[in-house]
Amino acid sequence: LAELRGDPQEGPGIREVEAAWSRVKPTPVAAPRLVAYSREMAQTLGLSDADVRSPEFAQVFGGNTLLPGMDPFAANYGGHQFGHWAGQLGDGRAITLGEILDAQGKRWELQLKGAGPTPYSRSADGRAVLRSSIREFLCSEAIHHLGVPTTRALSLVATGESVVRDMLYDGNPKEEPGAIVCRVSPSFIRFGNFELPYTREDFEGLQSLTDFCIARDFPELRGQGTTLYGDWFATVAERTAVLMAHWMRVGFVHGVMNTDNLSILGLTIDYGPYGWIDDFDPDWTPNTTDAGGRRYRFSWQPKIAYWNLTMLAHAISPLFGEDVAPLNEGLQRFMDAYVAADRANVAGKLGLREARDSDIEQHQMLQDLLRVGELDMTLFYRALSRFDPDADIEAQLDGPGDVFAHAYYDPTHREEVLPGFWDWFNLYAPRLKEDGRPEEERRASMDAVNPKYVLRNYLAQEAIDLAEQGDDSRVVELLDVMRKPYDEQPQYERFARKRPEWAKTKVGCSM
Ligand code: AMP
Ligand code: MG
Ligand code: MG
Repeated sequence: LAELRGDPQEGPGIREVEAAWSRVKPTPVAAPRLVAYSREMAQTLGLSDADVRSPEFAQVFGGNTLLPGMDPFAANYGGHQFGHWAGQLGDGRAITLGEILDAQGKRWELQLKGAGPTPYSRSADGRAVLRSSIREFLCSEAIHHLGVPTTRALSLVATGESVVRDMLYDGNPKEEPGAIVCRVSPSFIRFGNFELPYTREDFEGLQSLTDFCIARDFPELRGQGTTLYGDWFATVAERTAVLMAHWMRVGFVHGVMNTDNLSILGLTIDYGPYGWIDDFDPDWTPNTTDAGGRRYRFSWQPKIAYWNLTMLAHAISPLFGEDVAPLNEGLQRFMDAYVAADRANVAGKLGLREARDSDIEQHQMLQDLLRVGELDMTLFYRALSRFDPDADIEAQLDGPGDVFAHAYYDPTHREEVLPGFWDWFNLYAPRLKEDGRPEEERRASMDAVNPKYVLRNYLAQEAIDLAEQGDDSRVVELLDVMRKPYDEQPQYERFARKRPEWAKTKVGCSM
Protein backbone atom coordinates (compact mmCIF):
# COMPACT_ATOMS: atom_id res chain seq x y z
CA LEU A 1 0.00 0.00 0.00
CA ALA A 2 3.04 2.20 -0.28
CA GLU A 3 1.33 4.15 -3.07
CA LEU A 4 -1.23 5.43 -0.62
CA ARG A 5 1.27 6.90 1.77
CA GLY A 6 1.47 10.63 1.39
CA ASP A 7 2.20 13.94 2.99
CA PRO A 8 -0.82 15.42 4.76
CA GLN A 9 0.44 18.88 3.88
CA GLU A 10 0.11 18.09 0.17
CA GLY A 11 -3.62 17.62 0.06
CA PRO A 12 -5.38 19.40 2.89
CA GLY A 13 -8.57 19.29 0.80
CA ILE A 14 -11.59 21.07 2.12
CA ARG A 15 -9.71 21.55 5.39
CA GLU A 16 -8.39 24.75 3.85
CA VAL A 17 -11.83 26.13 4.49
CA GLU A 18 -12.70 26.90 8.10
CA ALA A 19 -15.96 25.59 9.59
CA ALA A 20 -16.37 23.25 6.63
CA TRP A 21 -15.05 20.12 8.34
CA SER A 22 -14.14 18.34 11.58
CA ARG A 23 -11.22 16.06 12.29
CA VAL A 24 -12.48 12.57 13.20
CA LYS A 25 -11.05 9.07 13.16
CA PRO A 26 -12.84 5.96 11.93
CA THR A 27 -14.10 3.74 14.76
CA PRO A 28 -12.36 0.35 14.62
CA VAL A 29 -14.42 -2.74 13.77
CA ALA A 30 -14.22 -6.33 14.98
CA ALA A 31 -13.16 -8.31 11.94
CA PRO A 32 -12.72 -6.42 8.66
CA ARG A 33 -12.86 -8.69 5.62
CA LEU A 34 -12.59 -7.68 1.97
CA VAL A 35 -15.75 -8.73 0.12
CA ALA A 36 -15.07 -7.16 -3.28
CA TYR A 37 -13.06 -4.45 -4.93
CA SER A 38 -12.95 -2.58 -8.20
CA ARG A 39 -9.95 -3.72 -10.21
CA GLU A 40 -10.10 -0.58 -12.37
CA MET A 41 -10.21 1.81 -9.44
CA ALA A 42 -7.40 -0.06 -7.67
CA GLN A 43 -5.26 0.14 -10.80
CA THR A 44 -5.95 3.84 -11.17
CA LEU A 45 -4.73 4.35 -7.62
CA GLY A 46 -1.63 2.26 -8.30
CA LEU A 47 -2.71 -0.71 -6.18
CA SER A 48 -1.92 -4.23 -7.32
CA ASP A 49 -4.20 -7.22 -6.71
CA ALA A 50 -1.73 -8.35 -4.05
CA ASP A 51 -1.96 -4.95 -2.30
CA VAL A 52 -5.73 -5.15 -2.22
CA ARG A 53 -5.76 -8.75 -1.01
CA SER A 54 -3.23 -8.08 1.74
CA PRO A 55 -4.59 -8.21 5.30
CA GLU A 56 -3.42 -4.62 5.78
CA PHE A 57 -5.83 -3.41 3.08
CA ALA A 58 -8.91 -4.66 4.92
CA GLN A 59 -7.57 -3.08 8.12
CA VAL A 60 -7.16 0.32 6.46
CA PHE A 61 -10.39 0.24 4.46
CA GLY A 62 -12.33 -1.22 7.34
CA GLY A 63 -11.29 1.79 9.41
CA ASN A 64 -8.92 0.05 11.85
CA THR A 65 -5.56 1.41 10.72
CA LEU A 66 -4.40 4.71 9.29
CA LEU A 67 -1.53 4.85 6.85
CA PRO A 68 1.13 7.51 7.41
CA GLY A 69 -0.15 10.77 5.95
CA MET A 70 -3.82 10.06 6.55
CA ASP A 71 -5.47 12.75 8.66
CA PRO A 72 -9.17 11.89 8.44
CA PHE A 73 -12.04 14.33 8.61
CA ALA A 74 -15.75 14.68 7.98
CA ALA A 75 -17.14 17.53 5.87
CA ASN A 76 -19.96 19.80 6.95
CA TYR A 77 -22.86 20.74 4.71
CA GLY A 78 -26.57 21.50 4.81
CA GLY A 79 -29.34 20.69 2.40
CA HIS A 80 -32.86 20.99 1.15
CA GLN A 81 -34.52 17.64 1.66
CA PHE A 82 -37.73 16.98 -0.28
CA GLY A 83 -37.99 20.69 -1.02
CA HIS A 84 -37.52 21.97 2.54
CA TRP A 85 -34.48 23.44 4.21
CA ALA A 86 -33.20 20.79 6.62
CA GLY A 87 -30.41 22.79 8.25
CA GLN A 88 -26.99 21.36 8.96
CA LEU A 89 -26.45 17.74 7.91
CA GLY A 90 -22.79 16.95 7.19
CA ASP A 91 -20.97 13.66 6.72
CA GLY A 92 -22.80 11.66 9.37
CA ARG A 93 -21.29 8.38 8.30
CA ALA A 94 -18.60 9.30 5.81
CA ILE A 95 -14.99 9.94 6.78
CA THR A 96 -12.37 11.12 4.31
CA LEU A 97 -9.01 9.44 4.79
CA GLY A 98 -7.16 11.84 2.50
CA GLU A 99 -6.46 12.75 -1.08
CA ILE A 100 -3.94 11.15 -3.37
CA LEU A 101 -2.58 11.91 -6.82
CA ASP A 102 -2.62 9.04 -9.32
CA ALA A 103 0.10 8.36 -11.89
CA GLN A 104 -1.61 10.82 -14.28
CA GLY A 105 -1.56 13.51 -11.63
CA LYS A 106 -5.32 13.27 -11.11
CA ARG A 107 -6.50 13.93 -7.57
CA TRP A 108 -8.72 11.43 -5.77
CA GLU A 109 -10.32 11.72 -2.35
CA LEU A 110 -10.70 8.41 -0.48
CA GLN A 111 -13.73 8.26 1.77
CA LEU A 112 -15.03 5.51 4.02
CA LYS A 113 -18.82 5.27 4.23
CA GLY A 114 -20.05 3.55 7.38
CA ALA A 115 -16.85 3.95 9.44
CA GLY A 116 -18.55 5.14 12.60
CA PRO A 117 -19.92 8.34 14.08
CA THR A 118 -18.74 11.84 13.27
CA PRO A 119 -19.67 15.20 14.83
CA TYR A 120 -22.46 15.30 12.22
CA SER A 121 -24.07 11.95 13.02
CA ARG A 122 -26.68 13.41 15.36
CA SER A 123 -28.34 10.41 17.03
CA ALA A 124 -27.43 7.95 14.27
CA ASP A 125 -24.69 5.34 14.47
CA GLY A 126 -22.46 6.32 11.55
CA ARG A 127 -22.64 2.77 10.24
CA ALA A 128 -23.87 1.19 7.02
CA VAL A 129 -25.38 -2.23 6.46
CA LEU A 130 -24.01 -4.79 4.03
CA ARG A 131 -27.21 -4.54 1.97
CA SER A 132 -26.91 -0.81 1.21
CA SER A 133 -23.12 -1.07 0.87
CA ILE A 134 -23.42 -3.76 -1.81
CA ARG A 135 -25.90 -1.53 -3.62
CA GLU A 136 -23.60 1.48 -3.49
CA PHE A 137 -20.48 -0.50 -4.40
CA LEU A 138 -22.04 -2.26 -7.39
CA CYS A 139 -24.04 0.65 -8.72
CA SER A 140 -21.28 3.23 -8.64
CA GLU A 141 -19.09 0.95 -10.73
CA ALA A 142 -21.99 -0.05 -13.01
CA ILE A 143 -22.88 3.60 -13.61
CA HIS A 144 -19.24 4.38 -14.34
CA HIS A 145 -19.03 1.63 -16.94
CA LEU A 146 -22.22 2.95 -18.53
CA GLY A 147 -20.27 6.13 -19.22
CA VAL A 148 -22.21 8.18 -16.68
CA PRO A 149 -20.26 10.58 -14.41
CA THR A 150 -20.17 9.22 -10.86
CA THR A 151 -18.26 8.84 -7.64
CA ARG A 152 -16.43 5.52 -7.71
CA ALA A 153 -16.07 2.63 -5.30
CA LEU A 154 -12.71 1.09 -4.50
CA SER A 155 -13.66 -1.55 -1.98
CA LEU A 156 -16.39 -3.23 -0.01
CA VAL A 157 -15.29 -4.47 3.41
CA ALA A 158 -17.53 -6.43 5.78
CA THR A 159 -17.00 -5.28 9.37
CA GLY A 160 -17.78 -8.53 11.21
CA GLU A 161 -20.17 -6.51 13.35
CA SER A 162 -23.91 -6.14 13.18
CA VAL A 163 -25.90 -2.97 12.83
CA VAL A 164 -29.45 -2.42 14.03
CA ARG A 165 -31.95 -1.00 11.57
CA ASP A 166 -35.65 -0.23 11.63
CA MET A 167 -36.97 -1.86 8.53
CA LEU A 168 -39.37 0.39 6.70
CA TYR A 169 -41.82 -2.30 5.84
CA ASP A 170 -42.57 -3.85 9.24
CA GLY A 171 -41.25 -1.35 11.77
CA ASN A 172 -39.34 -4.01 13.70
CA PRO A 173 -35.68 -3.33 14.45
CA LYS A 174 -33.46 -5.95 12.91
CA GLU A 175 -29.78 -6.81 13.21
CA GLU A 176 -27.94 -6.80 9.93
CA PRO A 177 -24.31 -7.34 8.97
CA GLY A 178 -22.33 -4.11 8.71
CA ALA A 179 -19.98 -3.03 5.93
CA ILE A 180 -17.86 -0.14 4.76
CA VAL A 181 -17.47 1.10 1.20
CA CYS A 182 -14.45 3.13 0.25
CA ARG A 183 -15.76 5.60 -2.27
CA VAL A 184 -13.47 7.65 -4.40
CA SER A 185 -13.99 10.96 -6.16
CA PRO A 186 -12.03 14.02 -7.25
CA SER A 187 -14.41 15.93 -4.96
CA PHE A 188 -17.27 15.17 -2.63
CA ILE A 189 -18.46 18.78 -2.50
CA ARG A 190 -22.23 19.06 -2.80
CA PHE A 191 -24.61 21.93 -3.46
CA GLY A 192 -25.37 21.76 0.26
CA ASN A 193 -21.80 22.70 1.17
CA PHE A 194 -22.55 26.20 -0.19
CA GLU A 195 -26.00 26.45 1.33
CA LEU A 196 -24.71 26.02 4.87
CA PRO A 197 -22.48 29.15 5.07
CA TYR A 198 -25.16 31.08 3.16
CA THR A 199 -27.87 30.31 5.71
CA ARG A 200 -25.42 31.17 8.50
CA GLU A 201 -24.69 34.46 6.80
CA ASP A 202 -21.03 33.47 6.81
CA PHE A 203 -20.24 35.12 3.49
CA GLU A 204 -16.50 35.00 4.06
CA GLY A 205 -16.71 31.25 4.56
CA LEU A 206 -18.90 31.00 1.47
CA GLN A 207 -16.32 32.82 -0.59
CA SER A 208 -13.34 30.84 0.66
CA LEU A 209 -15.22 27.58 -0.01
CA THR A 210 -16.07 28.75 -3.53
CA ASP A 211 -12.53 29.90 -4.24
CA PHE A 212 -11.18 26.62 -2.93
CA CYS A 213 -13.66 24.57 -4.97
CA ILE A 214 -12.89 26.45 -8.18
CA ALA A 215 -9.14 26.20 -7.66
CA ARG A 216 -9.18 22.48 -6.87
CA ASP A 217 -12.10 21.12 -8.87
CA PHE A 218 -12.34 23.54 -11.83
CA PRO A 219 -8.71 24.44 -12.58
CA GLU A 220 -9.61 24.99 -16.24
CA LEU A 221 -11.67 28.08 -15.37
CA ARG A 222 -9.83 31.37 -15.77
CA GLY A 223 -10.80 34.93 -15.09
CA GLN A 224 -11.70 36.51 -11.78
CA GLY A 225 -14.42 38.08 -9.68
CA THR A 226 -18.03 37.73 -10.75
CA THR A 227 -16.99 36.64 -14.24
CA LEU A 228 -15.19 33.64 -12.80
CA TYR A 229 -18.03 32.85 -10.38
CA GLY A 230 -20.54 33.14 -13.22
CA ASP A 231 -18.52 30.81 -15.46
CA TRP A 232 -18.22 28.39 -12.61
CA PHE A 233 -21.95 28.33 -11.88
CA ALA A 234 -22.73 27.89 -15.59
CA THR A 235 -20.25 25.01 -15.73
CA VAL A 236 -21.92 23.34 -12.74
CA ALA A 237 -25.31 23.85 -14.40
CA GLU A 238 -24.10 22.35 -17.66
CA ARG A 239 -22.56 19.32 -16.01
CA THR A 240 -25.73 18.75 -14.02
CA ALA A 241 -27.76 18.89 -17.24
CA VAL A 242 -25.49 16.39 -18.93
CA LEU A 243 -25.78 14.09 -15.92
CA MET A 244 -29.59 14.27 -16.01
CA ALA A 245 -29.60 13.34 -19.70
CA HIS A 246 -27.42 10.32 -18.92
CA TRP A 247 -29.76 9.15 -16.17
CA MET A 248 -32.74 9.52 -18.50
CA ARG A 249 -30.92 7.62 -21.22
CA VAL A 250 -30.08 4.57 -19.12
CA GLY A 251 -33.23 4.52 -16.96
CA PHE A 252 -31.56 5.35 -13.66
CA VAL A 253 -33.68 6.89 -10.91
CA HIS A 254 -31.59 8.46 -8.16
CA GLY A 255 -34.46 8.55 -5.69
CA VAL A 256 -33.22 11.18 -3.27
CA MET A 257 -32.14 14.28 -5.14
CA ASN A 258 -31.84 16.51 -2.10
CA THR A 259 -29.38 19.38 -2.49
CA ASP A 260 -26.94 17.60 -0.17
CA ASN A 261 -26.90 14.74 -2.68
CA LEU A 262 -26.04 16.78 -5.78
CA SER A 263 -22.37 16.90 -6.64
CA ILE A 264 -20.75 20.17 -7.64
CA LEU A 265 -18.89 18.21 -10.32
CA GLY A 266 -22.08 16.81 -11.83
CA LEU A 267 -21.33 13.29 -10.61
CA THR A 268 -23.87 10.73 -9.51
CA ILE A 269 -23.43 10.69 -5.73
CA ASP A 270 -25.14 9.08 -2.75
CA TYR A 271 -26.47 5.72 -3.81
CA GLY A 272 -29.34 5.17 -1.41
CA PRO A 273 -32.83 4.24 -2.53
CA TYR A 274 -31.95 4.45 -6.23
CA GLY A 275 -33.55 2.13 -8.75
CA TRP A 276 -33.73 1.28 -12.43
CA ILE A 277 -36.70 1.55 -14.70
CA ASP A 278 -38.03 -1.89 -15.59
CA ASP A 279 -41.46 -1.38 -17.19
CA PHE A 280 -41.43 2.11 -18.63
CA ASP A 281 -43.18 4.16 -15.95
CA PRO A 282 -42.13 7.83 -15.92
CA ASP A 283 -43.87 8.33 -12.55
CA TRP A 284 -41.98 5.60 -10.75
CA THR A 285 -39.73 6.37 -7.81
CA PRO A 286 -37.80 3.74 -5.89
CA ASN A 287 -38.00 5.85 -2.73
CA THR A 288 -40.75 4.43 -0.52
CA THR A 289 -40.61 7.49 1.76
CA ASP A 290 -41.48 9.59 -1.31
CA ALA A 291 -44.49 7.51 -2.32
CA GLY A 292 -46.99 10.34 -1.75
CA GLY A 293 -45.52 13.25 -3.69
CA ARG A 294 -43.20 11.24 -5.88
CA ARG A 295 -40.94 14.29 -6.01
CA TYR A 296 -38.06 12.08 -7.07
CA ARG A 297 -39.86 10.20 -9.83
CA PHE A 298 -37.95 9.23 -12.99
CA SER A 299 -39.38 11.82 -15.35
CA TRP A 300 -38.96 14.74 -12.95
CA GLN A 301 -35.20 14.35 -12.52
CA PRO A 302 -34.22 17.15 -14.93
CA LYS A 303 -36.66 19.63 -13.42
CA ILE A 304 -35.68 18.71 -9.87
CA ALA A 305 -32.03 19.20 -10.82
CA TYR A 306 -33.01 22.65 -12.08
CA TRP A 307 -34.78 23.39 -8.82
CA ASN A 308 -31.65 22.34 -6.94
CA LEU A 309 -29.58 24.66 -9.11
CA THR A 310 -31.86 27.54 -8.18
CA MET A 311 -31.12 26.73 -4.53
CA LEU A 312 -27.41 26.78 -5.29
CA ALA A 313 -27.87 30.09 -7.12
CA HIS A 314 -29.49 31.57 -3.99
CA ALA A 315 -26.70 30.25 -1.83
CA ILE A 316 -23.91 31.76 -3.89
CA SER A 317 -25.77 34.99 -4.74
CA PRO A 318 -23.82 37.05 -2.14
CA LEU A 319 -20.72 36.53 -4.30
CA PHE A 320 -22.36 38.51 -7.10
CA GLY A 321 -23.33 41.68 -5.30
CA GLU A 322 -26.01 43.61 -7.19
CA ASP A 323 -25.41 41.85 -10.49
CA VAL A 324 -27.19 38.52 -10.47
CA ALA A 325 -27.42 38.28 -14.27
CA PRO A 326 -24.68 35.59 -14.37
CA LEU A 327 -26.86 33.40 -12.15
CA ASN A 328 -29.76 33.66 -14.58
CA GLU A 329 -27.39 32.93 -17.42
CA GLY A 330 -26.16 29.86 -15.59
CA LEU A 331 -29.71 28.59 -15.13
CA GLN A 332 -30.33 29.21 -18.82
CA ARG A 333 -27.20 27.19 -19.54
CA PHE A 334 -28.84 24.26 -17.77
CA MET A 335 -31.89 24.54 -20.02
CA ASP A 336 -29.85 24.80 -23.20
CA ALA A 337 -27.50 22.00 -22.25
CA TYR A 338 -30.35 19.72 -21.24
CA VAL A 339 -32.31 20.34 -24.42
CA ALA A 340 -29.19 19.62 -26.49
CA ALA A 341 -28.31 16.48 -24.52
CA ASP A 342 -31.88 15.21 -24.65
CA ARG A 343 -31.92 15.72 -28.41
CA ALA A 344 -28.70 13.76 -28.68
CA ASN A 345 -30.29 11.02 -26.57
CA VAL A 346 -33.27 10.79 -28.91
CA ALA A 347 -31.01 10.58 -31.96
CA GLY A 348 -28.76 8.03 -30.28
CA LYS A 349 -31.52 5.83 -28.91
CA LEU A 350 -33.40 5.80 -32.23
CA GLY A 351 -30.24 5.34 -34.30
CA LEU A 352 -30.50 8.61 -36.23
CA ARG A 353 -27.59 10.83 -37.22
CA GLU A 354 -29.40 13.73 -35.64
CA ALA A 355 -32.83 14.37 -34.22
CA ARG A 356 -35.23 16.92 -35.71
CA ASP A 357 -38.13 18.47 -33.85
CA SER A 358 -40.43 15.92 -35.44
CA ASP A 359 -38.20 13.11 -34.13
CA ILE A 360 -38.48 14.52 -30.61
CA GLU A 361 -42.27 14.42 -30.95
CA GLN A 362 -42.19 10.91 -32.37
CA HIS A 363 -39.98 9.76 -29.53
CA GLN A 364 -42.46 11.18 -27.03
CA MET A 365 -45.20 9.16 -28.71
CA LEU A 366 -43.05 6.08 -28.54
CA GLN A 367 -42.52 6.57 -24.81
CA ASP A 368 -46.28 6.92 -24.33
CA LEU A 369 -46.69 3.54 -26.01
CA LEU A 370 -43.99 1.98 -23.83
CA ARG A 371 -45.78 3.28 -20.75
CA VAL A 372 -49.25 2.11 -21.80
CA GLY A 373 -47.91 -1.24 -22.98
CA GLU A 374 -45.74 -1.61 -19.85
CA LEU A 375 -42.75 -2.61 -21.90
CA ASP A 376 -39.35 -3.02 -20.32
CA MET A 377 -37.28 0.07 -21.11
CA THR A 378 -33.88 -1.58 -21.39
CA LEU A 379 -35.08 -4.59 -23.37
CA PHE A 380 -37.17 -2.48 -25.72
CA TYR A 381 -34.44 -0.03 -26.73
CA ARG A 382 -31.88 -2.78 -27.00
CA ALA A 383 -34.19 -4.70 -29.35
CA LEU A 384 -34.93 -1.58 -31.38
CA SER A 385 -31.61 -1.88 -33.18
CA ARG A 386 -32.79 -5.31 -34.44
CA PHE A 387 -35.78 -3.77 -36.18
CA ASP A 388 -35.24 -3.93 -39.93
CA PRO A 389 -36.81 -1.02 -41.85
CA ASP A 390 -36.59 -2.99 -45.10
CA ALA A 391 -38.48 -6.01 -43.81
CA ASP A 392 -42.24 -6.49 -43.28
CA ILE A 393 -43.12 -4.10 -40.43
CA GLU A 394 -46.23 -5.84 -39.10
CA ALA A 395 -44.44 -9.18 -38.92
CA GLN A 396 -41.81 -7.64 -36.65
CA LEU A 397 -44.40 -6.36 -34.17
CA ASP A 398 -46.68 -9.34 -33.76
CA GLY A 399 -46.65 -13.11 -34.06
CA PRO A 400 -43.53 -15.29 -34.09
CA GLY A 401 -41.37 -12.53 -35.62
CA ASP A 402 -42.12 -9.99 -32.86
CA VAL A 403 -38.79 -8.33 -32.11
CA PHE A 404 -40.14 -6.97 -28.83
CA ALA A 405 -42.05 -9.99 -27.49
CA HIS A 406 -39.61 -10.46 -24.59
CA ALA A 407 -40.05 -6.84 -23.44
CA TYR A 408 -43.73 -7.13 -22.42
CA TYR A 409 -44.48 -7.70 -18.76
CA ASP A 410 -48.04 -8.59 -19.60
CA PRO A 411 -48.59 -9.87 -23.15
CA THR A 412 -52.27 -8.92 -22.97
CA HIS A 413 -51.12 -5.28 -23.23
CA ARG A 414 -49.76 -6.00 -26.65
CA GLU A 415 -53.24 -5.87 -28.20
CA GLU A 416 -53.71 -2.44 -26.68
CA VAL A 417 -50.56 -0.90 -28.11
CA LEU A 418 -50.26 -2.75 -31.42
CA PRO A 419 -52.24 -0.20 -33.48
CA GLY A 420 -50.07 2.58 -32.01
CA PHE A 421 -46.89 0.63 -32.74
CA TRP A 422 -47.98 -0.03 -36.30
CA ASP A 423 -48.46 3.68 -36.90
CA TRP A 424 -45.24 4.54 -35.14
CA PHE A 425 -43.04 2.03 -36.95
CA ASN A 426 -44.62 2.94 -40.27
CA LEU A 427 -43.12 6.41 -39.78
CA TYR A 428 -39.87 5.14 -38.22
CA ALA A 429 -38.98 2.77 -41.07
CA PRO A 430 -38.95 5.45 -43.79
CA ARG A 431 -37.24 7.87 -41.40
CA LEU A 432 -34.41 5.37 -40.92
CA LYS A 433 -34.13 4.81 -44.66
CA GLU A 434 -34.03 8.53 -45.27
CA ASP A 435 -31.32 8.90 -42.61
CA GLY A 436 -29.45 6.45 -44.79
CA ARG A 437 -26.90 4.98 -42.45
CA PRO A 438 -25.50 1.55 -43.24
CA GLU A 439 -27.35 -0.97 -41.09
CA GLU A 440 -24.24 -2.29 -39.34
CA GLU A 441 -23.17 1.18 -38.37
CA ARG A 442 -26.61 2.15 -37.12
CA ARG A 443 -26.91 -0.98 -34.99
CA ALA A 444 -23.48 -0.50 -33.46
CA SER A 445 -24.22 3.13 -32.61
CA MET A 446 -27.56 2.22 -31.01
CA ASP A 447 -26.00 -0.59 -29.00
CA ALA A 448 -23.42 1.87 -27.70
CA VAL A 449 -26.08 4.02 -26.03
CA ASN A 450 -28.85 1.51 -25.25
CA PRO A 451 -27.30 -0.79 -22.64
CA LYS A 452 -27.89 -4.51 -22.55
CA TYR A 453 -27.09 -4.87 -18.83
CA VAL A 454 -28.23 -2.57 -16.04
CA LEU A 455 -28.15 -3.23 -12.31
CA ARG A 456 -31.83 -3.96 -11.93
CA ASN A 457 -33.06 -3.89 -8.36
CA TYR A 458 -33.77 -7.58 -8.29
CA LEU A 459 -30.27 -8.44 -9.48
CA ALA A 460 -28.72 -6.44 -6.66
CA GLN A 461 -31.22 -8.00 -4.26
CA GLU A 462 -30.27 -11.55 -5.27
CA ALA A 463 -26.61 -10.70 -4.72
CA ILE A 464 -27.48 -9.24 -1.31
CA ASP A 465 -29.50 -12.30 -0.25
CA LEU A 466 -26.59 -14.58 -1.13
CA ALA A 467 -24.00 -12.33 0.53
CA GLU A 468 -26.04 -12.20 3.73
CA GLN A 469 -25.82 -16.01 3.76
CA GLY A 470 -22.04 -15.79 3.36
CA ASP A 471 -21.74 -16.21 -0.39
CA ASP A 472 -20.10 -13.14 -1.98
CA SER A 473 -19.71 -14.71 -5.41
CA ARG A 474 -22.71 -13.00 -6.99
CA VAL A 475 -21.44 -9.56 -5.97
CA VAL A 476 -18.20 -10.30 -7.80
CA GLU A 477 -20.06 -11.77 -10.77
CA LEU A 478 -22.41 -8.79 -11.13
CA LEU A 479 -19.48 -6.41 -10.93
CA ASP A 480 -17.96 -8.34 -13.81
CA VAL A 481 -21.12 -8.28 -15.97
CA MET A 482 -21.60 -4.57 -15.39
CA ARG A 483 -18.09 -3.84 -16.63
CA LYS A 484 -19.32 -4.21 -20.21
CA PRO A 485 -22.94 -3.11 -20.17
CA TYR A 486 -23.12 -2.43 -23.91
CA ASP A 487 -21.57 -5.72 -25.03
CA GLU A 488 -23.36 -8.97 -25.75
CA GLN A 489 -22.06 -11.37 -23.11
CA PRO A 490 -23.64 -14.75 -23.90
CA GLN A 491 -22.34 -16.30 -20.66
CA TYR A 492 -24.27 -13.62 -18.74
CA GLU A 493 -27.52 -13.70 -20.74
CA ARG A 494 -29.42 -14.47 -17.55
CA PHE A 495 -28.53 -11.02 -16.16
CA ALA A 496 -30.18 -9.29 -19.13
CA ARG A 497 -33.69 -10.54 -18.39
CA LYS A 498 -36.64 -8.49 -17.30
CA ARG A 499 -37.66 -8.27 -13.67
CA PRO A 500 -39.27 -11.50 -12.44
CA GLU A 501 -42.76 -11.49 -10.98
CA TRP A 502 -41.53 -11.93 -7.38
CA ALA A 503 -39.64 -8.64 -7.54
CA LYS A 504 -42.59 -6.61 -8.72
CA THR A 505 -43.02 -4.51 -5.59
CA LYS A 506 -39.76 -2.83 -6.56
CA VAL A 507 -38.99 -1.62 -3.06
CA GLY A 508 -35.90 0.56 -2.88
CA CYS A 509 -33.40 0.51 -0.10
CA SER A 510 -32.35 3.60 1.72
CA MET A 511 -30.29 2.75 4.77
P1 AMP B 1 -28.87 10.74 2.90
O1 AMP B 1 -30.37 10.68 2.88
O2 AMP B 1 -28.22 9.43 2.67
O3 AMP B 1 -28.36 11.77 1.96
O4 AMP B 1 -28.44 11.18 4.36
C1 AMP B 1 -28.86 12.39 4.92
C2 AMP B 1 -28.03 12.73 6.14
O5 AMP B 1 -28.16 11.72 7.14
C3 AMP B 1 -26.54 12.87 5.86
O6 AMP B 1 -26.05 13.91 6.67
C4 AMP B 1 -26.00 11.54 6.31
O7 AMP B 1 -24.63 11.62 6.67
C5 AMP B 1 -26.87 11.24 7.53
N1 AMP B 1 -26.95 9.80 7.81
C6 AMP B 1 -27.60 8.85 7.11
N2 AMP B 1 -27.46 7.65 7.69
C7 AMP B 1 -26.68 7.83 8.78
C8 AMP B 1 -26.15 6.96 9.80
N3 AMP B 1 -26.42 5.64 9.83
N4 AMP B 1 -25.38 7.52 10.75
C9 AMP B 1 -25.12 8.83 10.75
N5 AMP B 1 -25.58 9.69 9.85
C10 AMP B 1 -26.36 9.21 8.86
MG1 MG C 1 -26.48 12.13 1.38
MG1 MG D 1 -27.31 8.22 1.61
